[in-house]
Amino acid sequence: CGIIACVGRGDDTLDTLVHGLSKLDYRGYDSAGVALTGSGDDTVEVVKRQGQLDALRRVLETARADGAEPRGTVGMAHTRWSTHGAPSDANAHPHTDCTGRVAVVHNGIIENYQALRDELAANGHEFRSETDTEVIPHLIEELFDGPEYDPADPEPAIREAVARLEGSFAVVVSVAGVETLFGARQDNPLVLGTSPRDAGSAGGERSEPRAGATYLASDVPAFRAFTDRVVYLENGEFARIDAEGWTVTGTDGEVVQTSVETVDWD
Ligand code: GLU
Repeated sequence: CGIIACVGRGDDTLDTLVHGLSKLDYRGYDSAGVALTGSGDDTVEVVKRQGQLDALRRVLETARADGAEPRGTVGMAHTRWSTHGAPSDANAHPHTDCTGRVAVVHNGIIENYQALRDELAANGHEFRSETDTEVIPHLIEELFDGPEYDPADPEPAIREAVARLEGSFAVVVSVAGVETLFGARQDNPLVLGTSPRDAGSAGGERSEPRAGATYLASDVPAFRAFTDRVVYLENGEFARIDAEGWTVTGTDGEVVQTSVETVDWD
Protein backbone atom coordinates (compact mmCIF):
# COMPACT_ATOMS: atom_id res chain seq x y z
CA CYS A 1 0.00 0.00 0.00
CA GLY A 2 3.06 2.24 0.30
CA ILE A 3 6.43 2.21 -1.46
CA ILE A 4 9.62 4.15 -0.86
CA ALA A 5 12.86 3.40 -2.69
CA CYS A 6 16.13 5.28 -3.01
CA VAL A 7 19.58 5.19 -4.53
CA GLY A 8 22.42 7.48 -3.55
CA ARG A 9 21.93 7.98 0.18
CA GLY A 10 24.95 5.90 1.13
CA ASP A 11 25.01 4.85 4.78
CA ASP A 12 21.67 6.59 5.35
CA THR A 13 19.79 4.22 3.05
CA LEU A 14 18.09 2.10 5.72
CA ASP A 15 17.13 5.11 7.88
CA THR A 16 15.79 6.89 4.79
CA LEU A 17 13.54 3.93 4.03
CA VAL A 18 12.18 3.61 7.57
CA HIS A 19 11.53 7.35 7.66
CA GLY A 20 9.74 7.12 4.32
CA LEU A 21 7.51 4.28 5.53
CA SER A 22 6.58 6.29 8.63
CA LYS A 23 5.39 9.12 6.35
CA LEU A 24 3.18 6.76 4.36
CA ASP A 25 1.45 5.15 7.33
CA TYR A 26 -1.74 7.17 6.77
CA ARG A 27 -2.38 4.72 3.92
CA GLY A 28 -2.83 1.84 6.39
CA TYR A 29 -1.05 -1.50 6.27
CA ASP A 30 -0.65 -4.96 7.80
CA SER A 31 3.08 -5.64 7.31
CA ALA A 32 6.24 -3.80 6.38
CA GLY A 33 9.58 -4.71 4.88
CA VAL A 34 12.85 -3.47 3.42
CA ALA A 35 15.34 -4.75 0.84
CA LEU A 36 18.88 -3.45 0.40
CA THR A 37 21.75 -4.23 -1.92
CA GLY A 38 25.07 -2.72 -2.91
CA SER A 39 27.98 -3.20 -5.22
CA GLY A 40 29.36 -6.75 -5.13
CA ASP A 41 26.31 -8.37 -3.50
CA ASP A 42 25.06 -11.72 -4.84
CA THR A 43 21.67 -11.47 -3.17
CA VAL A 44 19.32 -8.68 -2.09
CA GLU A 45 18.99 -8.56 1.70
CA VAL A 46 15.36 -8.59 2.87
CA VAL A 47 13.86 -7.98 6.32
CA LYS A 48 10.05 -7.99 6.69
CA ARG A 49 7.46 -8.42 9.40
CA GLN A 50 3.75 -8.69 9.86
CA GLY A 51 2.23 -5.83 11.81
CA GLN A 52 2.87 -2.13 12.18
CA LEU A 53 6.12 -0.38 11.37
CA ASP A 54 7.24 -0.72 15.00
CA ALA A 55 7.44 -4.51 14.60
CA LEU A 56 9.89 -4.05 11.71
CA ARG A 57 11.73 -1.29 13.58
CA ARG A 58 12.33 -3.59 16.53
CA VAL A 59 13.81 -6.31 14.32
CA LEU A 60 16.05 -3.75 12.61
CA GLU A 61 17.17 -2.27 15.94
CA THR A 62 18.11 -5.70 17.27
CA ALA A 63 19.98 -6.43 14.04
CA ARG A 64 21.79 -3.09 14.31
CA ALA A 65 22.79 -3.82 17.92
CA ASP A 66 24.20 -7.16 16.74
CA GLY A 67 26.02 -5.55 13.83
CA ALA A 68 23.80 -7.53 11.47
CA GLU A 69 21.55 -4.85 9.98
CA PRO A 70 20.87 -5.03 6.25
CA ARG A 71 23.36 -2.86 4.39
CA GLY A 72 23.47 -1.36 0.95
CA THR A 73 23.36 1.88 -0.99
CA VAL A 74 20.30 0.81 -2.97
CA GLY A 75 17.10 0.24 -1.02
CA MET A 76 13.38 -0.12 -1.20
CA ALA A 77 10.62 -0.60 1.34
CA HIS A 78 6.94 -1.44 1.41
CA THR A 79 3.86 -1.39 3.56
CA ARG A 80 1.25 -3.93 2.52
CA TRP A 81 -2.52 -3.77 2.36
CA SER A 82 -3.14 -7.42 1.61
CA THR A 83 -5.40 -8.46 -1.26
CA HIS A 84 -4.04 -12.00 -1.97
CA GLY A 85 -2.85 -13.97 1.05
CA ALA A 86 -3.42 -13.15 4.71
CA PRO A 87 -1.21 -10.69 6.61
CA SER A 88 1.92 -12.69 7.57
CA ASP A 89 5.71 -12.49 7.52
CA ALA A 90 5.84 -14.73 4.42
CA ASN A 91 3.28 -12.65 2.52
CA ALA A 92 4.95 -9.35 3.45
CA HIS A 93 6.89 -7.56 0.72
CA PRO A 94 9.60 -7.40 -0.65
CA HIS A 95 9.28 -10.71 -2.49
CA THR A 96 12.25 -12.46 -4.06
CA ASP A 97 12.93 -15.04 -6.76
CA CYS A 98 14.37 -18.51 -5.94
CA THR A 99 17.98 -17.28 -6.04
CA GLY A 100 17.51 -14.10 -3.98
CA ARG A 101 18.95 -12.03 -6.83
CA VAL A 102 15.71 -10.20 -7.60
CA ALA A 103 13.47 -8.40 -5.11
CA VAL A 104 10.15 -6.70 -5.84
CA VAL A 105 7.74 -4.42 -3.98
CA HIS A 106 4.26 -3.99 -5.42
CA ASN A 107 1.08 -2.06 -4.76
CA GLY A 108 -2.05 -3.16 -6.57
CA ILE A 109 -3.37 -6.42 -7.97
CA ILE A 110 -1.90 -8.70 -10.68
CA GLU A 111 -5.07 -10.04 -12.32
CA ASN A 112 -3.32 -12.79 -14.32
CA TYR A 113 -1.15 -14.01 -11.46
CA GLN A 114 -2.67 -17.51 -11.33
CA ALA A 115 -1.82 -18.27 -14.96
CA LEU A 116 1.70 -16.89 -14.49
CA ARG A 117 2.14 -18.81 -11.24
CA ASP A 118 1.05 -22.09 -12.85
CA GLU A 119 3.44 -21.53 -15.75
CA LEU A 120 6.36 -20.63 -13.48
CA ALA A 121 5.66 -23.49 -11.04
CA ALA A 122 5.67 -25.89 -13.99
CA ASN A 123 9.15 -24.55 -14.82
CA GLY A 124 10.35 -25.40 -11.31
CA HIS A 125 9.86 -22.13 -9.45
CA GLU A 126 9.06 -22.61 -5.78
CA PHE A 127 6.69 -20.08 -4.30
CA ARG A 128 6.99 -19.04 -0.68
CA SER A 129 3.94 -16.80 -0.36
CA GLU A 130 0.28 -16.71 -1.32
CA THR A 131 0.55 -13.29 -2.92
CA ASP A 132 -0.15 -12.29 -6.50
CA THR A 133 3.07 -10.23 -6.29
CA GLU A 134 5.48 -13.14 -5.99
CA VAL A 135 5.04 -14.06 -9.67
CA ILE A 136 6.96 -10.89 -10.59
CA PRO A 137 10.43 -11.76 -9.18
CA HIS A 138 10.10 -15.33 -10.49
CA LEU A 139 9.13 -14.09 -13.95
CA ILE A 140 12.16 -11.80 -13.98
CA GLU A 141 14.39 -14.67 -12.82
CA GLU A 142 13.03 -16.80 -15.67
CA LEU A 143 13.95 -14.08 -18.18
CA PHE A 144 17.38 -13.63 -16.56
CA ASP A 145 17.99 -17.31 -17.27
CA GLY A 146 17.12 -16.84 -20.93
CA PRO A 147 19.75 -16.81 -23.71
CA GLU A 148 19.35 -13.11 -24.43
CA TYR A 149 19.96 -11.92 -20.91
CA ASP A 150 22.95 -9.62 -20.42
CA PRO A 151 23.83 -9.30 -16.70
CA ALA A 152 25.28 -5.87 -17.43
CA ASP A 153 21.78 -4.62 -18.30
CA PRO A 154 18.82 -6.18 -16.49
CA GLU A 155 16.38 -3.57 -17.82
CA PRO A 156 15.12 -5.43 -20.94
CA ALA A 157 14.18 -8.52 -18.90
CA ILE A 158 12.42 -6.41 -16.27
CA ARG A 159 10.51 -4.50 -18.97
CA GLU A 160 9.47 -7.77 -20.58
CA ALA A 161 8.23 -9.11 -17.25
CA VAL A 162 6.24 -5.92 -16.58
CA ALA A 163 4.72 -6.12 -20.07
CA ARG A 164 3.27 -9.52 -19.15
CA LEU A 165 1.45 -8.21 -16.09
CA GLU A 166 -2.27 -7.50 -16.26
CA GLY A 167 -4.03 -5.49 -13.60
CA SER A 168 -2.97 -2.52 -11.53
CA PHE A 169 0.48 -1.98 -10.19
CA ALA A 170 3.20 0.26 -8.95
CA VAL A 171 6.32 -1.90 -8.78
CA VAL A 172 9.94 -1.32 -7.92
CA VAL A 173 12.56 -3.95 -8.76
CA SER A 174 16.00 -4.33 -7.21
CA VAL A 175 18.69 -6.65 -8.57
CA ALA A 176 21.56 -7.82 -6.33
CA GLY A 177 24.73 -5.83 -6.80
CA VAL A 178 23.10 -3.42 -9.26
CA GLU A 179 23.15 0.25 -8.20
CA THR A 180 20.04 1.10 -10.17
CA LEU A 181 16.36 0.61 -9.29
CA PHE A 182 13.61 0.02 -11.84
CA GLY A 183 10.02 1.21 -11.43
CA ALA A 184 6.84 0.83 -13.43
CA ARG A 185 3.24 1.83 -12.93
CA GLN A 186 -0.21 1.03 -14.24
CA ASP A 187 -3.20 2.53 -12.41
CA ASN A 188 -1.36 2.78 -9.08
CA PRO A 189 0.63 5.88 -8.15
CA LEU A 190 4.42 6.14 -8.39
CA VAL A 191 6.31 9.41 -8.11
CA LEU A 192 9.99 10.12 -8.63
CA GLY A 193 11.97 12.47 -6.39
CA THR A 194 15.25 13.95 -7.48
CA SER A 195 17.96 15.56 -5.42
CA PRO A 196 18.10 19.37 -5.60
CA ARG A 197 21.66 18.98 -6.83
CA ASP A 198 20.32 17.37 -9.99
CA ALA A 199 19.28 20.77 -11.32
CA GLY A 200 19.73 20.64 -15.06
CA SER A 201 18.25 17.22 -15.53
CA ALA A 202 14.79 18.50 -16.45
CA GLY A 203 13.33 17.24 -19.68
CA GLY A 204 13.68 13.55 -19.00
CA GLU A 205 17.21 13.45 -20.35
CA ARG A 206 19.79 11.86 -18.16
CA SER A 207 21.20 14.30 -15.66
CA GLU A 208 24.89 15.06 -15.62
CA PRO A 209 26.76 12.78 -13.26
CA ARG A 210 27.00 14.41 -9.87
CA ALA A 211 26.45 13.39 -6.29
CA GLY A 212 22.81 13.15 -5.38
CA ALA A 213 20.03 10.81 -4.54
CA THR A 214 16.97 9.69 -6.43
CA TYR A 215 13.72 8.31 -5.03
CA LEU A 216 10.63 6.41 -6.10
CA ALA A 217 7.56 6.41 -3.87
CA SER A 218 3.81 6.01 -3.77
CA ASP A 219 3.49 9.58 -2.60
CA VAL A 220 5.63 12.68 -2.09
CA PRO A 221 5.63 12.74 1.76
CA ALA A 222 7.85 9.63 1.71
CA PHE A 223 10.83 11.67 0.48
CA ARG A 224 9.70 15.26 1.10
CA ALA A 225 12.28 15.64 3.93
CA PHE A 226 15.05 15.19 1.35
CA THR A 227 13.81 16.89 -1.78
CA ASP A 228 10.92 18.97 -3.12
CA ARG A 229 11.62 18.15 -6.80
CA VAL A 230 9.16 15.64 -8.18
CA VAL A 231 8.35 13.90 -11.45
CA TYR A 232 4.82 12.47 -11.55
CA LEU A 233 5.02 9.24 -13.55
CA GLU A 234 2.18 8.46 -15.93
CA ASN A 235 0.48 5.13 -16.60
CA GLY A 236 2.69 2.82 -18.65
CA GLU A 237 5.89 4.67 -17.88
CA PHE A 238 9.08 2.91 -16.81
CA ALA A 239 11.72 4.62 -14.68
CA ARG A 240 15.29 3.74 -13.87
CA ILE A 241 16.97 5.66 -11.08
CA ASP A 242 20.47 5.79 -9.71
CA ALA A 243 22.63 8.15 -7.68
CA GLU A 244 23.30 10.30 -10.74
CA GLY A 245 19.75 10.78 -11.92
CA TRP A 246 16.99 9.03 -13.75
CA THR A 247 15.49 8.10 -17.09
CA VAL A 248 11.78 7.71 -17.82
CA THR A 249 10.70 5.76 -20.89
CA GLY A 250 7.40 4.78 -22.44
CA THR A 251 6.27 1.25 -23.32
CA ASP A 252 8.02 1.72 -26.69
CA GLY A 253 11.33 2.34 -24.90
CA GLU A 254 11.53 5.94 -26.11
CA VAL A 255 12.64 8.55 -23.55
CA VAL A 256 9.66 10.53 -22.24
CA GLN A 257 10.00 14.29 -21.85
CA THR A 258 9.10 14.61 -18.18
CA SER A 259 8.79 17.83 -16.28
CA VAL A 260 10.24 18.30 -12.81
CA GLU A 261 7.81 20.06 -10.52
CA THR A 262 8.72 21.76 -7.29
CA VAL A 263 6.24 21.06 -4.52
CA ASP A 264 5.81 24.11 -2.31
CA TRP A 265 4.35 22.35 0.73
CA ASP A 266 6.19 20.91 3.70
N1 GLU B 1 -1.70 -7.53 -4.01
C1 GLU B 1 -0.50 -7.42 -3.24
C2 GLU B 1 -0.59 -8.26 -1.98
O1 GLU B 1 -1.63 -8.64 -1.57
C3 GLU B 1 -0.13 -5.97 -2.91
C4 GLU B 1 -1.03 -5.32 -1.91
C5 GLU B 1 -0.72 -3.84 -1.67
O2 GLU B 1 -1.04 -3.01 -2.55
O3 GLU B 1 -0.16 -3.52 -0.61
O4 GLU B 1 0.41 -8.56 -1.40
